[in-house]
Amino acid sequence: MSARIIDGKAIAEAVDQEVARDVESLVQTYGAPPCLCVVLVGDDPASQVYVRNKGRRTQAAGMISREIKLPASVSQAELESQVKALSADPDVDGILVQLPLPAGLNSDAVIACIDPAKDVDGLTEVSAGRLVLGRLGLRPCTPTGCIILAKRTLGDLKGAHVVVVGRSILVGKPAGLLFLAEDCTVTLAHSRTRDLASVCRSADILVPAVGRPEMIKGAWVKPGATVIDVGINRVDNPAKGPGATRLVGDVAYEEAFEVAGAITPVPGGVGPMTIACLLQNTLQAACARRGWSVG
Ligand code: NAP
Repeated sequence: MSARIIDGKAIAEAVDQEVARDVESLVQTYGAPPCLCVVLVGDDPASQVYVRNKGRRTQAAGMISREIKLPASVSQAELESQVKALSADPDVDGILVQLPLPAGLNSDAVIACIDPAKDVDGLTEVSAGRLVLGRLGLRPCTPTGCIILAKRTLGDLKGAHVVVVGRSILVGKPAGLLFLAEDCTVTLAHSRTRDLASVCRSADILVPAVGRPEMIKGAWVKPGATVIDVGINRVDNPAKGPGATRLVGDVAYEEAFEVAGAITPVPGGVGPMTIACLLQNTLQAACARRGWSVG
């Protein structure tokens, strides 16, 4: 049996369109569209591409996209003061500081300067606390994207055993909490987990978020399981010539494809969902700031 491919690009486009429809209603009621401001420090090419995509999709959804570009040499104090100014700016609904920051800058201190009401990346202590407590709040985008993919593939997730491999603040931990909130039984595996292969094989839904190319083998996947591969790894691609590269996930896709019930490709799986969830969060923040409820 081969797996159904979960088309993250198509699902992300559908979410973008839902957001665009709600933005239109918001604008009809309040006039001003939601505004997302991205802070980009330094000139990392991958971050630049990502920020450009964010800007394009934000505008396509009818929202205002602002960018603040700062040199890698910016001081910690100057960066913090820029983020504080955005937090105080009444025209800005969402703030995203593109991570990672260049070496020498303390991202925790910068994130602490984001008004939690505008924390569309869901990374402040207030957002993390609300997630743990199960209270309404802005959730981290990539893990939210995983939940949407799982729900649109499987429907109700209640009772499913979810194994998240990875426990980072950005992906693994919030993914575990979000699946728990869907009444799943959650295992968070990590680099010290014993017999990771068996743990993975016990998953109805397997969510690798490690950053190791093709580490999860086909034999680690329970037949019929849903695999949501968060990993994005650039590897050499000698078949395309010297110096060529390609993107792969944390899962050995060809092998897992033969065993899983459904699987996300890399690229085109979780990746596009991250921006879709950022747009959703910006809309949510804008609605909350205007005292307006969607739908
Ligand atoms: P990270 O902060 O480096 O965390 C990696 C996690 O993997 C850690 O918890 C680590 O465990 C665990 N790990 C490392 N080696 C392991 C092993 N051999 N066995 C089991 N667990 C192991 O990475 P991240 O920020 O969470 O990102 C993970 C991956 O997701 C990366 O490939 C990244 O590019 C990708 N990503 C994709 C998106 C997207 O939009 N699709 C967004 C964010 C990240 P310990 O805690 O024990 O060290």
